[in-house]
Amino acid sequence: MTLSNSTAEIRRLDAAHHLHPFTNTRELNARGARVITQSSGVYLQDSEGNRILDGMSGLWCVNAGHGRRDIIDAVSRQLEELTFYNTFFNTTHPSVAELSGLLSEVTPPQFNYFHYTGSGSESNDTIFRLVRYYWELEGKPEKSIFISRRGGYHGSTVAAASLGGFGSMHKQGGLPIAGIYHAPSPDWWSYGGDMSSDEFGLHVAHQTLSLIDAIGSDRIGAMIGEPIMGAGGVIVPPKTYWPALSAGLKERDILLISDEVICGFGRTGEWFGCELMGTEPDFLTMAKGITSGYIPLGAVGVSDRVAKVLLEKGGEFAHGHTYSGHPAACAAAIATLKILREEKLVDRVRTDIGPYLKQKWKTLADHPIVGEAVIEGLIGAFQFTKDKSSRKGFDEDARIGMIAREHSFKNGLVMRAVGDRMVIAPPFTLTHEEADELVSIAQKVIELTYADAKSNGLIA
Ligand SMILES: *Cc1c(COP(=O)(O)O)cnc(C)c1O
Repeated sequence: MTLSNSTAEIRRLDAAHHLHPFTNTRELNARGARVITQSSGVYLQDSEGNRILDGMSGLWCVNAGHGRRDIIDAVSRQLEELTFYNTFFNTTHPSVAELSGLLSEVTPPQFNYFHYTGSGSESNDTIFRLVRYYWELEGKPEKSIFISRRGGYHGSTVAAASLGGFGSMHKQGGLPIAGIYHAPSPDWWSYGGDMSSDEFGLHVAHQTLSLIDAIGSDRIGAMIGEPIMGAGGVIVPPKTYWPALSAGLKERDILLISDEVICGFGRTGEWFGCELMGTEPDFLTMAKGITSGYIPLGAVGVSDRVAKVLLEKGGEFAHGHTYSGHPAACAAAIATLKILREEKLVDRVRTDIGPYLKQKWKTLADHPIVGEAVIEGLIGAFQFTKDKSSRKGFDEDARIGMIAREHSFKNGLVMRAVGDRMVIAPPFTLTHEEADELVSIAQKVIELTYADAKSNGLIA
């Protein structure tokens, strides 16, 4: 009996020795982890042979689909040619140089310099230091405060988790660190009250600028935000929000960091979410889809405004990671970018599969237990509601999302639960047929969850 043949043995070892991320390991061990063993295209397979449509692209990352020969070959060729060398000591290598050139082509025009990390979290911690260093070089060291948002997600390292707006994360380990203020979320469904979506977008933008003015914009270095909040439940902001907010930041000379870890590289149907929202950020946070998840890689885009100061006034930036620009990760990123370009996958998200899925996904909101169904490109969510007209969600104790997530997995679809919202972010290669399958399982999940909610007394 080989290890991979025995689900029970894998579960036993895992329960005995693996402390899982974002997991209550005690509860997990009591039930046993689902063992995922294979993946191909948009499908996963578990150790019991079940085929599951990967509606989350792994964790918002496998944008080009699973098991692609071209990426796998590029990585293995790279490892044979140059296994590893660092980029610290006046050295570089062909792949990191090529990737940097490619990124300058696909990112908005103000981005021509890139710094590499191992993850989105490290990228945000890097930007945290870069922003303060930039303002020190500009002779304004007092501009050290960051504005971020409740419900935003920016990673799990100390600065990134502090920038994030998750109370559950702040409670552990004494976060947030000093110098970070959290502005309100532009989540119209939950907080919009009687305002129209457009009115609410302006309202939250003005609330944020008032917070900034109360603190003093001469003390604020930068604001960070995801174009569309991902881990916070796929919150698509009202279309008035980003234009009003980014104009206000510009007037106050506050840098904008667009956290593109999920939205970047085509997820929204544009190359970067900031292009969809009409903002002109000074920093880009990148990870996840940059390599389609084949090899870990994070990157920071540094705008011309900032790069000029770093290059002309700065000395050594005393910061870096052993694996900054790891050759194998760069090879995976180059291969991914080539696929996105050659197969025109970003256009496909915007003009073909995105609109196709949208027209079906929107119909989920016809159900009495669904408050809204939103989707932008290939990032979407639906919201469970107890009462549609008053836009009332479910209490946390109801664990409605967990109930739905179980039904979804059992019926062959990965959807992620964020409180009482269910989210999807499928691979860009999703076919129309696979989109039909995704939506029909989602409908079934809604029916099953509705039946459970009725029998549990969660709804009348
Ligand atoms: C996932 C994520 C991060 C953190 O990236 P890691 O690679 O998990 O460290 C940061 N920002 C956003 C928007 C993310 O979705």
